[in-house]
Amino acid sequence: MPSAPRSVVEHRAVVAALLSPTPAEDVPLAQSLGRVLAADVVAAVSLPSFENSAMDGYAVRAGELAGASEASPVAFRVAADIPAGRTDVPVLEPGTVHRIMTGAPVPAGADAVVPVEQTDGGVERVLIRVVPEKGAYLRHVGEDVHAGDVVLTAGTVLGAAQIGVAAAVGSATLPLRRRPVVLVLSTGSELVAPGTPLQPGQIYESNGPMLAAAVEDAGGVAELLRFVPDDVEQFLGTLRERVEEGAVDLVLTSGGVSAGAYEVVKDAFTGRGVEFVKVGMQPGGPQGAGRMAELGDVAVVTLPGNPVSSQVSFEVFVRPALRAAMGHPHPDRAVVTATLSEGLRSPAGRRQFRRGTVDAVQGTVREVGTVASHMLGSMALAECFFVVPEDVTELPAGAPVEVWLLDD
Ligand code: AMP
Ligand code: MG
Repeated sequence: MPSAPRSVVEHRAVVAALLSPTPAEDVPLAQSLGRVLAADVVAAVSLPSFENSAMDGYAVRAGELAGASEASPVAFRVAADIPAGRTDVPVLEPGTVHRIMTGAPVPAGADAVVPVEQTDGGVERVLIRVVPEKGAYLRHVGEDVHAGDVVLTAGTVLGAAQIGVAAAVGSATLPLRRRPVVLVLSTGSELVAPGTPLQPGQIYESNGPMLAAAVEDAGGVAELLRFVPDDVEQFLGTLRERVEEGAVDLVLTSGGVSAGAYEVVKDAFTGRGVEFVKVGMQPGGPQGAGRMAELGDVAVVTLPGNPVSSQVSFEVFVRPALRAAMGHPHPDRAVVTATLSEGLRSPAGRRQFRRGTVDAVQGTVREVGTVASHMLGSMALAECFFVVPEDVTELPAGAPVEVWLLDD
């Protein structure tokens, strides 16, 4: 009697346990987008780091402008010109003003800035038409960030704004979690590279590019190896060569793990540290995971060959494991609840991951394509997976389902 299938939850845990947290490495800011901080970022300087002007205008002593108005502007000699970037700013002598630009250092002695719009804009002499409040248009040292403040905490995923703050406080590089390196290897004697003619019985190899893209999208570094035919020696030889070079976190294969003959991955790995199981899910039942002793104990995950099975298995098992290893605060896809546009049936004992599109306004999900795992065309139209639990065999239209958004 065949043993009961392994649950999705259990296989997720098995795959996640294969990957250790990646160490920190220093990375230039320009390469840090989307990556995860390994340590807090502490401001080396305050923001602002010196008192500066919030406007283009004139640095003044506010008390000297008493009585200024549209009707009776007050005239001053412009004693200095302070563009942004000037580092030798002279003291503001009583009875004079300095022309000053936004972001330029406020001279000692000044206690307000009058915007150029409230003057005649003069260069040597200026007429000022308002009485500024003391402190007007001055940006004060540390009013945004104090030197020594933590501006970004460990575990933050770096977007544009976070990279901007890091640069502003003087970080040239950031301590980031290393991206796991994933070797991607497809198997199948029927496979041919896109761009070459097909003989009858051959197909274009699509899992390799798809999984490599999925690895990169998850934040890993994908190394796409040239696919191999269903030949154990060639398969193992290809892996041996690359894994011996070192620095591989995961070997990710597709194909050759089901119940037929010529199951190259199963034949090569069985009894060598990789366990092959049937997982209670659809698509993607046949799965394998473990460590290959002869390849330096490298972590191995073997996905089924049907392209939709491969994609779904990657999403369910590999993507969250890679992201967790990188310290990502949200290893899983964003999950929402939506109601089914149409009723459906589902086999007992298997968690189904069906492909769909979401109507966010209506809060509904509609299936695209069919449940069949060779239907690549519809896979490309899907915006989400929706989940039918193991113990559910029928759902009416309007039933709520869990939806994984694939474009978060
Ligand atoms: P397998 O898991 O090797 O039995 O393959 C199952 C199905 O997926 C077969 O129809 C294969 O031709 C197809 N398949 C396997 N690997 C790939 C691949 N890399 N690209 C496209 N189709 C594949
Ligand atoms: Mg095959």
